[in-house]
Amino acid sequence: MGVVTRARRGARPGPVQEEPMPELFIDGQWTAAAEGRKREIRCPADGTLVATVDEGGARDADAAVAAARAAFDRGPWPGTPAAERGRLLLRVAELLERDKDAFARAESLDTGKRLVESAYDMDDIANCFRYFGNLVAAGDAGRVVDTGLADVDSRIVYEPVGVCALITPWNYPLLQTAWKVAPALGAGNTFVLKPSELTPHTAVLLMRLLAEAGLPDGVANLVLGAGADVGAPLTEDPRVDLVSFTGGLATGRRIMAAAAPTVKKVALELGGKNPNIVFADAAFETAVDYALMAVFLHSGQVCSAGARLLVQDELHDRFVDELVARAGRIKLGGPFDEDARSGPLISAAHRDKVEAYVAEGIAEGAVLRCGGARPDDPALADGFYYPPTVLDECATSMSVVQEESFGPVLTVERFRDEDDAVRLANDTVYGLAGAVWTQDGGRAHRVASRLRAGTVWINDFHPYVPQAEWGGMKQSGFGRELGPAGLAEYQEAKHIWRNVAATPQRWFE
Ligand code: NAD
Repeated sequence: MGVVTRARRGARPGPVQEEPMPELFIDGQWTAAAEGRKREIRCPADGTLVATVDEGGARDADAAVAAARAAFDRGPWPGTPAAERGRLLLRVAELLERDKDAFARAESLDTGKRLVESAYDMDDIANCFRYFGNLVAAGDAGRVVDTGLADVDSRIVYEPVGVCALITPWNYPLLQTAWKVAPALGAGNTFVLKPSELTPHTAVLLMRLLAEAGLPDGVANLVLGAGADVGAPLTEDPRVDLVSFTGGLATGRRIMAAAAPTVKKVALELGGKNPNIVFADAAFETAVDYALMAVFLHSGQVCSAGARLLVQDELHDRFVDELVARAGRIKLGGPFDEDARSGPLISAAHRDKVEAYVAEGIAEGAVLRCGGARPDDPALADGFYYPPTVLDECATSMSVVQEESFGPVLTVERFRDEDDAVRLANDTVYGLAGAVWTQDGGRAHRVASRLRAGTVWINDFHPYVPQAEWGGMKQSGFGRELGPAGLAEYQEAKHIWRNVAATPQRWFE
């Protein structure tokens, strides 16, 4: 996997020249896929071959689960003092900072994301490891329970859940992985990681760093491969105690059903169709600027993208005219094009899906204000580019409003007043995130409290911090990542009751 070491600043991705090294990591060993299959990873910006990696299957998943199970049941990690586990996470944060450039480059080659954006992600990832490292190192002695009984000691202790299957998507490959790996390890679990088959490289690099940081064999295992071949067996395996999944709604439903027969703990971070609500009194310039960033960041391939713009009637025309003018000026380009402000979509199939949503929206009555057709620039012909697209005069019932296109597509709806805005905003199956723009503090708080979403921004969009929980309501999923609750996902609370003066009870006499 020489993709990282060979790339230089400004260099285009090309075939890997180094000696190939297997990419599955099972029980502390780098291993080739049991069935010998390989997958080509191509940069979505221009189709260049980035690398050919091992493509795992059910047999590899089985071996990885066996290793993780043995490491949990018989290995030192679950019993390692919390302070030491925390220190290891802090060490990983340091190593990530040391290797930040290589990680960012690998992420950009896999995703087509601008290098500058991948570099931001790497900082956030190091911070995530640092946050959980400090949280865990601070220790948690559990909780003494006041039973009111003089002869009883009662306390709650927090234990690791066991073997975790961690399944992640392609849009923020290492970030979504870090949100799972850091708390899972911090709590003392072992895991099998299955990254998206489209973007495996930073997961491979992370395994190397975990080994370098001194994690015992078998604690962290990595199996590359497709969802049906690797993800599904992990989800069904009775030796797995918890599945933490980030991805699409349809896959989330399948995973929940597949985990049911063995009654696993499940955490689902699914999609969103996130409202960005702009009242007429919003600070105009800032709200326009953020509305663009909210939806077009990473070409709209962001779970919390502000893909539904709700604008108050009296502001609508001026706001949308300005937004459309600026959207039309966003320059598309590959990860190493320093003038580009937005990159490609992840695959041809994904671009087809985005196009179909736009066509359906127009057929249902939406007004196309900009974008809506593949760029004709020959320099972009080999990538999966799609321009920032604005669909005006949308109705909540349209599929392009209700469903996640996961592309650079903004739908615009009008609202009359506060009640109308809240009603429209909550009228999808999703509940991941949303924002409200107004200079009226009372209104901002009223709307924020009425939105059925896991995160609400007031006069902002997209920020998150590792100290604050992240997750969805409704069909955006359940469970939380980040924050203290993000650690608690990977813990079981156990009640230990000690009777210090037990005498016969004579219940049956
Ligand atoms: P996806 O559901 O297609 O795939 C996600 C992962 O699941 C991949 O690793 C895939 O191989 C695996 N998978 C597929 N089928 C499986 C099965 N039957 N069993 C087990 N695993 C299976 O999603 P994607 O296209 O990779 O990612 C985009 C989606 O992720 C979007 O819907 C986006 O909103 C969501 N997302 C959510 C968050 C969040 O925090 N809520 C963050 C990032 C992305």
